[in-house]
Amino acid sequence: MITVGITGNIGSGKTTVCKVFEHLGIAVFYSDAVAKSFYNNDDVKNTIKEAFTSAIFTPDGEVDRKKLASLVFADVRLLKKLNSIIHPLVFQCFTVWKNEHQSQKYLLFESAILYQCGFETLFDKIIWVRTPKKDALNRVMKRDNLSENEVKIRLKNQSINNLKCKLADFCIDNSEHSLIMPQILQIHQNLLKISTKK
Ligand code: ATP
Repeated sequence: MITVGITGNIGSGKTTVCKVFEHLGIAVFYSDAVAKSFYNNDDVKNTIKEAFTSAIFTPDGEVDRKKLASLVFADVRLLKKLNSIIHPLVFQCFTVWKNEHQSQKYLLFESAILYQCGFETLFDKIIWVRTPKKDALNRVMKRDNLSENEVKIRLKNQSINNLKCKLADFCIDNSEHSLIMPQILQIHQNLLKISTKK
């Protein structure tokens, strides 16, 4: 079995692509969703309170994720600080999940910040999902009901598609006029071949 990291900028279509892989029978670990679940954990909440400010908590003691997002997306150092709290925990969960899926040919680990966390070396192969910034902007505004400015702040520190496409083993073009199905099917066949050689 091999492990494959799938990443791309915010709103590039990672989840959309992963849903297709799931239809092909591939198990996907959605690390961003797992990361979100940690905000309900008391230990994590205490660490966040110490590392940031209690102003990002709601009156009933929950992390106000919208306030936290505004804070960290405006300052890359704070984003790194938050990632260093959450992502080691996420990776521990992935290790357990991976052991439960040993019979699979390959597994997908979906993350928006795989490169930022330095996780790329931990996977056998990497898939980069690319979409032009303007498409990502429009899609995220619509999906999350955010203003253009709010999305622009989130997209500010995003990676350069061409560079990441070269670094990755596979690149999926999810721009407005491209078809993702043939690209996904070809990558799927490649990964099945690679996994049988391992
Ligand atoms: P995030 O990093 O924010 O989690 P993501 O990379 O997982 O985002 P998706 O949630 O898959 O991106 O896609 C963002 C939005 O764009 C979704 O509403 C999705 O339905 C839509 N979308 C994705 N691909 C396309 C496409 N090719 N054409 C039109 N809409 C698309």
